[in-house]
Amino acid sequence: MESILVLTHADETGATLTRASLEAVTAGKELAARLSAELTIGIVAAKPQHLSKGLRCAVLAVEGEPFAQARFATDAAACEALWRAAQATIVLATHSSRFARVMAAVAHRAGGAIDTHVTTIGGAEDVEATRWYYRQRIEAALARATRPWFLLLDAGTHAPFACEASHSNVEEMAIPVELPPLRTEVTGLRAPQQSQQTIRPDAKLLFVAGAGWTKKQPDGQVHVEEAGRLILDFLAKSGASLGSSKSLVDQGGEGNSVLPFLTHLNQVGQTGSTPRHPKGLATCCHGEEPHVVGWRFIGERRAISLDANCGWTRGKADVVYVADAFKVMKRVNELLGGE
Ligand SMILES: Cc1cc2nc3c(=O)[nH]c(=O)nc-3n(C[C@H](O)[C@H](O)[C@H](O)COP(=O)(O)OP(=O)(O)OC[C@H]3O[C@@H](n4cnc5c(N)ncnc54)[C@H](O)[C@@H]3O)c2cc1C
Repeated sequence: MESILVLTHADETGATLTRASLEAVTAGKELAARLSAELTIGIVAAKPQHLSKGLRCAVLAVEGEPFAQARFATDAAACEALWRAAQATIVLATHSSRFARVMAAVAHRAGGAIDTHVTTIGGAEDVEATRWYYRQRIEAALARATRPWFLLLDAGTHAPFACEASHSNVEEMAIPVELPPLRTEVTGLRAPQQSQQTIRPDAKLLFVAGAGWTKKQPDGQVHVEEAGRLILDFLAKSGASLGSSKSLVDQGGEGNSVLPFLTHLNQVGQTGSTPRHPKGLATCCHGEEPHVVGWRFIGERRAISLDANCGWTRGKADVVYVADAFKVMKRVNELLGGE
């Protein structure tokens, strides 16, 4: 008989559980219902009391200032203590940078096994976890006899659990943690300002800029500055996340005019990222296979290209506008309340 522990952590404000943690809660609830298994939720936070409200199941929590920030020694000790208290056979957690850093060590201390980048948990009789290999081209279903089995879930694969504060939790237990001597002091966080942060995993729309934005346009000139303005204006108004094709981000190394806010972190594709968003809009991009492979988890795909023969028109997009992206995005920005 399986028993399930979902490990969660607070966001950087400490005021709520992260969205990805709430996705893991959904996965845990679904699995527990399917297996008729016992479910426990573990919380790692400085002040977990108010975070358990509305989770509607047994909660174990560690608390105290050392757990306010991500740090290997404290997070690993916290997750280990929560697992020892719950003695679960299956442990689910989000594949956040905070948990990805410690969970292999926790699985080792528990004498168990771990799999990462899990996207679904299914299986008729046994528990099966699926994950993608070879840059999201091959999907494998994994089953293991080893217990405890730790599964790190990719964000964006489950709906976040909706906590209703009115359903306050009844069973919450504080778990003591024996901390090792701490050699790492977290002195603060350095992050780009929100306005400079163009990669937004929670955005409804992925906007992808291709190399066409920097190419000669029908008037024989390049219009990189205008391209930059149109793209940033659209991102500010729509809250979209910004992706790019490899050709465009590579140009920075070739001494060409480039859009200064793009880096290889924005690159979507075979050698780039595979983001998850409900919708995607590719602009000035040809829709080549190594690029489009990164669109695997985009729900509805649209593209704007001057070339009626581009890759998007060959079954890779739901809607293709054969049009000048400069004109289209200018008009879209106006409709969104532009200059
Ligand atoms: C092993 C390997 C791995 C790769 N990995 C990746 C990867 O991870 N990610 C990736 O992106 N690529 C990857 N590539 C490269 C990929 O094959 C393409 O070369 C690249 O994605 C092309 O980028 P692009 O479409 O932006 O540029 P281009 O092919 O130059 O296309 C530009 C497009 O813009 C259009 N255009 C120009 N002006 C306008 C305008 N005003 N309005 C509308 N449209 C306009 C043009 O018609 C053209 O279709 C990889 C290649 C290899 C071999």
